[in-house]
Amino acid sequence: MSERKTITPAHRYRNNDKLVGIGNRFWNMSEEHGVAGIVGDLNDGVLRTADGHEFVNFTVCSYLDLDTHPKVIDGAVDSLRRFGVLDHCIPRTRVQTPVLLELEDSLGELFGAEVVTAISTAAASTGLLPLIASGHLGNGVRPLMVFDKNAHVSLANAKPTCADETEVVTSRHHDLDFLEDMCRTYERVCYVVDGSDSLGGYAPVRELAELQDKYNMMVFYDDSHSLSAYGRRGIGYVRSHSPALDQRTVTVATLSKGFGAGGTAILLDGYPKETRRIIERFAGPLGYSQKMNAAAVGAAMASAEIHRTEELTELQNRLYANIALFDSLLATEQSGSTYPIRVVPMSDDTVIDGAQRVFAAGFYVSPVFFPIVARGTAGLRAMLRAGQTEEQIRRLCEVLVEAGARPPTALPEPVAP
Ligand SMILES: *Cc1c(COP(=O)(O)O)cnc(C)c1O
Repeated sequence: MSERKTITPAHRYRNNDKLVGIGNRFWNMSEEHGVAGIVGDLNDGVLRTADGHEFVNFTVCSYLDLDTHPKVIDGAVDSLRRFGVLDHCIPRTRVQTPVLLELEDSLGELFGAEVVTAISTAAASTGLLPLIASGHLGNGVRPLMVFDKNAHVSLANAKPTCADETEVVTSRHHDLDFLEDMCRTYERVCYVVDGSDSLGGYAPVRELAELQDKYNMMVFYDDSHSLSAYGRRGIGYVRSHSPALDQRTVTVATLSKGFGAGGTAILLDGYPKETRRIIERFAGPLGYSQKMNAAAVGAAMASAEIHRTEELTELQNRLYANIALFDSLLATEQSGSTYPIRVVPMSDDTVIDGAQRVFAAGFYVSPVFFPIVARGTAGLRAMLRAGQTEEQIRRLCEVLVEAGARPPTALPEPVAP
């Protein structure tokens, strides 16, 4: 019998040995200590486990609490009844009901962009990035794809497929000098980056626009964390500040976080109708997998209506007030920013104990610690929302201080929208 081959993987862009090897230790430890793997029923903003423990979840990304808004719930139910089918399962490029077209019109008007929807941001990025890599979404030139080191995993996952279409590199976080170097070297560059990071902070959109002007650089933003929570009518950070809203900028933003529904919006500017067809036909899962379903569309339509009213501004202001209250009670690196996520620093030795104490006191905040983050950067991730009460935030911060978190030395500047 001939000797059979052992495979040596290339691991140029991903490595499951490392991912599972390192990640699983973190998850097992979290679950063993009762701060992951939690199951609870949600009622009136409070989760209740089978053994009767009640807690408020401080790690939910529904920053405006639109996910439980009665109009959004009704929107989902009514839409399903109105269209009579959850998903008419055939590629929309062949036959479709008007359900997605109505939503795309509405979101297009709301955000001032051409909108294509997809079932998730992950699906959209998986499909769009290789089309950009091959030059089919853009100006026909294959760009060097520069992925920011901190780009969300749903973006980084597209590296191997992009690398089969063009060259791919990973840059340091927000490294504008490196980008400019690459722009001088390559005919075209596409930078892939989060508009708003999941651990806090925003992309330097104005500086990037300068590079876009100077070198015709393309930027692919994932602005999932700031849609709804930020900007007039909730247009998000990128669309509030980028002066380069044209063919050089493509943005995806989930409708499942601040927007409170489900699905994602691909926001395009200045592209002709044919580009929309290319996307619908060839952007991976957009062509061959399911679409946003009628219930998610109905929820999104209702949320879009709320975005057009004063209620959105009120919700944003309540969110900002809650962020300011939190910042007045606890010191974090994110203090003073409009960004709704805070990482409360703890040591690797105390972070699990901290999360357990917080949970026992009736709140959930998620611990991040070595080995999923570098040693010395452990912490408890807390997210502020419009619907949290002053009492809840004060009590949470008290417990966090008892667990070793630091109150601020000086009061931070209050946040402004
Ligand atoms: C949450 C998140 C996603 C995932 O969004 P889905 O629409 O659920 O796929 C993608 N990108 C970023 C930056 C996120 O924060």
